[in-house]
Amino acid sequence: MLKLIKEVMRVGDATVPYPFVKVDVAPGFRGKPEYDPVQCIACAACVIACPPNALSMETNLESGTRTWSIFYGRCIFCARCEEVCPTGAIRLGDDFELASFSRDDLTVRADFRLAACSECGAYFASAKSLDRVLSLLDQAGLPPESADDRKALLHMCPECRRKTDLPRVKPIVQEAFDGRL
Ligand code: SF4
Ligand code: SF4
Repeated sequence: MLKLIKEVMRVGDATVPYPFVKVDVAPGFRGKPEYDPVQCIACAACVIACPPNALSMETNLESGTRTWSIFYGRCIFCARCEEVCPTGAIRLGDDFELASFSRDDLTVRADFRLAACSECGAYFASAKSLDRVLSLLDQAGLPPESADDRKALLHMCPECRRKTDLPRVKPIVQEAFDGRL
């Protein structure tokens, strides 16, 4: 018995007195997804990728708003959202203590404004995602006339874009079609 006590004292504590002390997690640990609404452009890529539908998005075309939300109660910490997010707005962190008495404590929401079509006025896309596409277009270094045309189209809803672009595209398609006959 004395030998056993000596061995226990030699080895020391084999466990951590959690939750009274903080536990360090391993590198690459997949904990609670941390969300930054400032970086988010409401593109919905994470919502489409999330396997258990922990992420959702509601678009209100009357008020021109879109609400992004995450319900941690459904999250399986797979990191698909982090993989697909184009802006780094959502990343899995170290936090794993998610127990709560209230469903609301497990939900985070953010509201975004929608862009209105320059032709018909209908809301059609998140204003922040449109701004991002426009800035990527600027970085692409296109000739000014070509860039201006594309920017004008990007400010339109898909329906108005089709109608506006049809006269330009029609002869090109027709020519390609004729060439194949
Ligand atoms: S970690 Fe996986 S389950 Fe959790 S919100 Fe992201 S995609 Fe959804
Ligand atoms: S993928 Fe990123 S930018 Fe797009 S809605 Fe999700 S968190 Fe926001």
